This record gives sequence, structure tokens and C-alpha cells, in this order.
Amino acid sequence: MNRNPTRRAFLVGATASPLLARNRRVHAQQDTSAFGLPIGFPDRLPGDGFIVRHGYATENTWFNPGWFHAGEDWYATSGDTAGALIYAVADGDVVFAGWEYPGLVVIVRHADDLYSMYGHLDYALSGEAGERVKRGDVLGAVLARTDGLAPSHLHFEARTFLTKTDVNGDAPRYGVTCGFQCPPGPGYWPIDAPEHPSEVGWRNPTHVIARRAFPNGETPDEAEVVVSDAATGTAELWSAPDGADGARQIGDVDLIVGDRYRLLAVDAGREVTTETSAEGYRLWYRIALADSERAWVRAAVPSTIETGSDGRPSAVRFDFLPAFPV
Ligand SMILES: [Zn+2]
Repeated sequence: MNRNPTRRAFLVGATASPLLARNRRVHAQQDTSAFGLPIGFPDRLPGDGFIVRHGYATENTWFNPGWFHAGEDWYATSGDTAGALIYAVADGDVVFAGWEYPGLVVIVRHADDLYSMYGHLDYALSGEAGERVKRGDVLGAVLARTDGLAPSHLHFEARTFLTKTDVNGDAPRYGVTCGFQCPPGPGYWPIDAPEHPSEVGWRNPTHVIARRAFPNGETPDEAEVVVSDAATGTAELWSAPDGADGARQIGDVDLIVGDRYRLLAVDAGREVTTETSAEGYRLWYRIALADSERAWVRAAVPSTIETGSDGRPSAVRFDFLPAFPV
């Protein structure tokens, strides 16, 4: 988000787009996972063609130095992000749609203690407060930004609260433009605050999605991952996720965009983390290789195309993406 002082509320019912609503289910993923990614281009897999330039609990030095980013900023890897479709990451209820971020904000409640938030959406929303949504439903599209503050992108949060007294409720502890009882909230949290954003109630969105994609912990037989268009070079093959007991590299594999692999297991970092750079992202997939070999690969790769003021990476690219059939 930005710290634009504008405080406007929008009556979303008046801006709902019948066109988007009609197309709602077209891009939904098959019901093989409970959670999916929040953004995609039409006719491509969700997440393909995107990178997170400012990850969760990283410092966004060029836009808001001195503050931790409370969510993930998703940008197209090439071309304009404006117009990209925004998907509900899981089933839930739209509990908020409106404000000016710039662009609208939609918040979906998935559980009493889990909300997803989508910011900088075009004014023609297809979701409105009170509506039930399914995973993959189109909530809207990324706003074409003309304010000059930042390029078009999606600001995406996973968090435990809609409003919380000292964050965006009755008594915000820090000067947030959103004001009192404003569900979108600040989008940032001071680095010198006593608590990490995780302790306040924000969660690592990538970890939330990956950990909850398969509630029973087992991937279905047809689950696959695909090499994303952000991937280059080779990926290391590991006997176990890096950091696990006895983990060792057992080879590598050429990353060829579009190649698919059976997905056998997922290993993701905790939703509550204490990390403060993109190095805190942990997402590994166990995949089946052509010769019946099995190996673990790192899906979320920290990138230094953006860095905090300490030089550590703020960006994350995804070499492998879920490729569940539509
Ligand atoms: Zn953001």
C-alpha cells in the first residue's frame, strides 16, 4: 500500500462488474487444493509471469524505508501488471470491499483467525461485501496506477484479524493513513516496533497457502508443479529440504520453462515467522523425475532485485508453481 492521506470509502455494490462476475469460474483451479495463488493472467496458471518484489516482513527501502512490509507485492515479470486477475486464495466470505489504497481493497474471511487481503484493485470489482466466494473466484483485477507512487501491483496479505485495536482499530499505535476501524490497515509495521509483524497477526502469505493447500498433508495423484517463466539455469536436487537432518544435494536439473513434474509432497515454513528478509521464505516441493528418481527442489528463491537497507533480499521468485489442472 502507500501512505497516501486520502480517506475515501466506496460503495462497492455500485461498481460491481457483471462482466467479471459472469467469468468468475473460468479461471478457477480444480478443487484439488484448498488454497491457491492470488494472481494470474487469463489463460495462464496462477502466479506464472509474476514475482514478489517486496516479500513479507521485508523492508521496502525504495518506498517505505524503516518499515516492515506486512504482505507481498506481486508484479508481472515483464510488461504491465495492470489488468491481471485477482483470485480468492481459498473459500470464504467477502467481509470488506472498498476504500482507496489507491485502488480498492477486498478482504475475505476464511476462518475466524484467517483473512486474506487484496489491495490496489481496479474500481470495477467483481466481489462485494457479504458474498460467499470459492477458491479461484475472480475478485477483480489489478488497478492501472496513475498516481506515480508505485507501478501497478497487487498488495496481498494473510492475517488473523479484520480490525485489531492497536493496528487498525480504535487506537492505532502508529500513524496509519487508513485511520480508525479501517479494515485495510497500514500494510506496514515499524521496524523499531517491539513486535515482529507475525506477533501482531500478519502471516507469511506464501507459507499459509502452501501449508494449507492440502489439508490432509497429502498431495493428490494428479498434482503437478510447472517450471515458471521466472526460472533460469538449473535447480539443485536435494535428498531432503535444505536444513533437514541429513539433507544433501544429490544433483541438479535444467529448468526448462513449462516442464511439469509430479508433486509428491510440500514442505513450507511456518506461518508465524521471525525472519526479516526474503531469506525467511521456505517452500520446497518433492517431485518425481523422469527416471523414477525423487528429489526435493526449492520453489521459493530469495532474490536481490530488491533489498532491504541491510542488503539482504526483499524479493522472491518462484521457480516452480502449482500446476493443478483447470
Ligand atoms: Zn505492498
